[in-house]
Amino acid sequence: MTGDLLANLNEPQQRAVTTVTGPVLVLAGPGSGKTRVLTHRIAYLIAETGIDPLQILAVTFTNKAAREIRERLNLLVGETVAHEITIGTFHAICTRWLRRDIVHLGRERDFVIYDSDDQERLMKRVLRELNLNEKQYPPRAILGVISRAKNELVDPEAFARTARSYFDEIVARCYTRYQQLLIESNALDFDDLLVETVRLFQEHPAILHHYHQRYRFLLVDEYQDTNRAQYLIVRALAERDRNLFVVGDEAQSIYAWRGADIRNILQFEHDYPDARVILLEQNYRSTQAILDAAQALMHASPQRKYAKNLWTVNGKGEAVTLYEASDEEDEVQFVVDEILRLIAEGKARPGDCAIMYRTNAQSRLVEEALIHAGVPYYVVGGVRFYERKEIKDVLAYLRLIANPYDSVSLQRIINWPGRGIGERTVAELIAWARTLGLPLYQALREIADNDAISHPFGGRARTALTEFYRLLSELHQLHGMMALSDLIDYLLNRIDVRATLYSEYDGDEADDRWRNVQELRNAALKYVNLPVETQLTAFLEEIALVADVDAIDRNSDTVTCITLHQAKGLEFPCVFLLGIEEGLLPHSRSLDNRDSIEEERRLLYVGMTRAQRRLYLCHATKRTMFGRVNIGARSRFLNDIPPTLVQQVHRRGYRAIPAVAGTTWQFRTSGQSEQNRRTSRNQAPLPTPQKAVFFPGQRVRHATFGEGIVVDSRLIEGDEEVTVRFADRERRLLASFARLEQL
Ligand code: ATP
Ligand code: MG
Repeated sequence: MTGDLLANLNEPQQRAVTTVTGPVLVLAGPGSGKTRVLTHRIAYLIAETGIDPLQILAVTFTNKAAREIRERLNLLVGETVAHEITIGTFHAICTRWLRRDIVHLGRERDFVIYDSDDQERLMKRVLRELNLNEKQYPPRAILGVISRAKNELVDPEAFARTARSYFDEIVARCYTRYQQLLIESNALDFDDLLVETVRLFQEHPAILHHYHQRYRFLLVDEYQDTNRAQYLIVRALAERDRNLFVVGDEAQSIYAWRGADIRNILQFEHDYPDARVILLEQNYRSTQAILDAAQALMHASPQRKYAKNLWTVNGKGEAVTLYEASDEEDEVQFVVDEILRLIAEGKARPGDCAIMYRTNAQSRLVEEALIHAGVPYYVVGGVRFYERKEIKDVLAYLRLIANPYDSVSLQRIINWPGRGIGERTVAELIAWARTLGLPLYQALREIADNDAISHPFGGRARTALTEFYRLLSELHQLHGMMALSDLIDYLLNRIDVRATLYSEYDGDEADDRWRNVQELRNAALKYVNLPVETQLTAFLEEIALVADVDAIDRNSDTVTCITLHQAKGLEFPCVFLLGIEEGLLPHSRSLDNRDSIEEERRLLYVGMTRAQRRLYLCHATKRTMFGRVNIGARSRFLNDIPPTLVQQVHRRGYRAIPAVAGTTWQFRTSGQSEQNRRTSRNQAPLPTPQKAVFFPGQRVRHATFGEGIVVDSRLIEGDEEVTVRFADRERRLLASFARLEQL
């Protein structure tokens, strides 16, 4: 077994895997096998030293990383054993602990988790209550300050004490009320999950002791991006046995804006003077050409502390390509053309390619170009299923069934489906509940059941509120009484969601939305094997914790479109980085601060080092942002990569045409490119279609998107553009590319 586990590791990697006790820090650059070492070490602990898998706790940065490690361990130690190891993100693990022990902090076990949308709604309510203007005090900005404070473990009172500016004083008032409302709603936001865990450990030594007994071996990936709260959680857990293994790379620290503290990794040796520090230098991911360019970028950093040298035996490989586009459309067109060329020449599959950008807004153009070319793709963090309105509405009911005190959910659906409770009544209800110091649900109960109490609601408002209360309490009684899918069916029926959607939207759109709601019910089926009383909570929890990046399905052959931040830890054979321009990367928000600029540099470094075989750096000389055309200066970071390390492609006003088998580049003016691009992909000129082959109503099949129905078809530029509704959504495809099969 040892042989197997250590065979595919180099000497320092082996040392990291076999150092079983005491604190260990693995400090190494991207692609050097840190995550691999962490995984193998878990297997080694179990298989070679006989450690009980239940005593191992591994923390990752995304749920996806956790899943990948678990899959790897299934192979290394078997599924039954791997199942017993605790692996997850800080947030997921803390949620589990809090469900068990949060009662010791005076909170309820069945709390809901508020996502950023819920937080914003709550903050808007706070601003209204405090008579503050949303324009002047944007909810997002205030929440950002609060989040930073929470991650530093600064509570509302401490924040108020140290507030120095007028703005801080405003935030302090908002923070206080926001926190009150969270507690009243029996809700925790993401930061609370960490903060409350820290509090639990600090205030209840017996509970901490329980976890000391339970987890004897701790492993943390991406340690450079831990924030203060996470640092304290790790420190508390490791304090007794000190079997703490962390891996990280300070040159890849990119979450300072969210409170991550690079000092946690730099001070590891100070915190644990007996720590073994292991450096890894061999990179297994990328070609030397890619590493050279990435390292040049970091060596030019004025902070110059990232002196690690990386080398690889992968060979020099293809030169890094630098493309100067005339504008943002030319930029994405180049990328898509290049992807098509690689595919046509058999050098890559769609799933090998990732397009990365600094801001989410850049994804729209990318998506359009990919749709037009008929290339299957996936946008990480696009409008997620769980963020659609109809889904959030139904979820709000489900959350209320689990926890009727959830005021954000209650407010969300108090008049959905419409039941005659107008905005004024809602505002009055909130104000009245506040004077009584009651959560909304309890205030409703008073109105419904307490004849003696005086309240401002008469006639119809009173009846509507009373009926709404009866509905909620009836639904709440079903909690834990029936299987989740039955519960959802009951709910949909009870409030007649279908009829509501058809009354609110036109036929097609209502169809879509109703289908989404049914999809939600399908998702619930996954929970049938759990005990009935836990199904709903487990379901809601998973939804609350699924991060964008976790949804990437690497099994399907699609191009990944992803922001640089989300790309952390991942690897792809071909990587295209867009918008390497002043104002985008480095981002305009970072320009007035040296440290922020260096964080942007590290972000670019993270992007570049995701590439295994091919790397493209792109920028545009003209870009429209926020409706204004800007002349884009190429990023200062590009000046840090010597021209000898990149192959420059300038073709202002021209577009690259993928080559017909064998030849390299051809150049055509953009007007001609569409037609040529298509013909080259198919290796021979296509006859220009004279009439449409597809017609509305026809059933077709696409290799990746599956079966669909043609909604529209028209001839453009010698090709047929077909609009097809697939199970998930509608797509516009070009017939010559999409290879639609007629059914
Ligand atoms: P990052 O900092 O980007 O998270 P990392 O240091 O965690 O990178 P890994 O993702 O663990 O690096 O490894 C990069 C790639 O190299 C993976 O595909 C991994 O399987 C491979 N690899 C690592 N070590 C070896 C080795 N000794 N032999 C063969 N392949 C290896
Ligand atoms: Mg890693």
